[in-house]
Amino acid sequence: MRVIAIDGPAGAGKSTVAREVARATGLQYLDTGAMYRCVALSVLRQHIDPFNEEAVGHVARSVSIDVQGVRAFLDGVDVSAEIRTPEISNTVSIIAAHTPVRDAMRMQQRQWIETNGGGVVEGRDIGTVVFPDAVLKVFLWASPEVRATRRVDQTGDDFDEVVRNITERDRIDSTRSDSPLRPADDAVSLNSSSIAVGDVVATIVQHFQERDGR
Ligand code: C5P
Repeated sequence: MRVIAIDGPAGAGKSTVAREVARATGLQYLDTGAMYRCVALSVLRQHIDPFNEEAVGHVARSVSIDVQGVRAFLDGVDVSAEIRTPEISNTVSIIAAHTPVRDAMRMQQRQWIETNGGGVVEGRDIGTVVFPDAVLKVFLWASPEVRATRRVDQTGDDFDEVVRNITERDRIDSTRSDSPLRPADDAVSLNSSSIAVGDVVATIVQHFQERDGR
């Protein structure tokens, strides 16, 4: 499977790195976080309780989600901006902890890889659960201060709110019972607080080329 899995906590720089790696390798890029954000948006729009596993699972199975690079479409409508609001960031980890939601998203992610013949896939459980046979698994992380500062620079949101949000998301994402955030045993671990983005990308591309055999 020509998959590069890039997992890690919020604000570690996964999206920037994954896009650059995709460009350098000629693979397509999939942001799986955007898929969970689309489910959260649909749940909030329908005034469904995010803790209601059955109702949220139904939403995950019935909506149409199409993530193309940095754009996300929910039932055919571009929701790229709506899925990045603090309201969605505060809800997404709650809905993402439900197994029926994860089952629906994993199925679509595997279909996406089949269709595209591989890809650079970023998320939380890509190397551990979704593509355990990925050619390369990367766990990208950074200090909480660096991660919060990055998010504030990207979104313009309030610093204290961002710190609260990523701390809470890290807690929920890494303690849930279904596919918690953790490095795969065979992942290459990179700390983006101390390595420049260009060097992170170069390291990943080099590891991939060594293993890809093309
Ligand atoms: O990557 P991003 O920060 O946009 O992800 C939003 C949320 O989606 C994460 O905090 C996590 O709760 C969930 N997620 C997940 N599994 C993935 C990708 C994202 O549970 N593979």
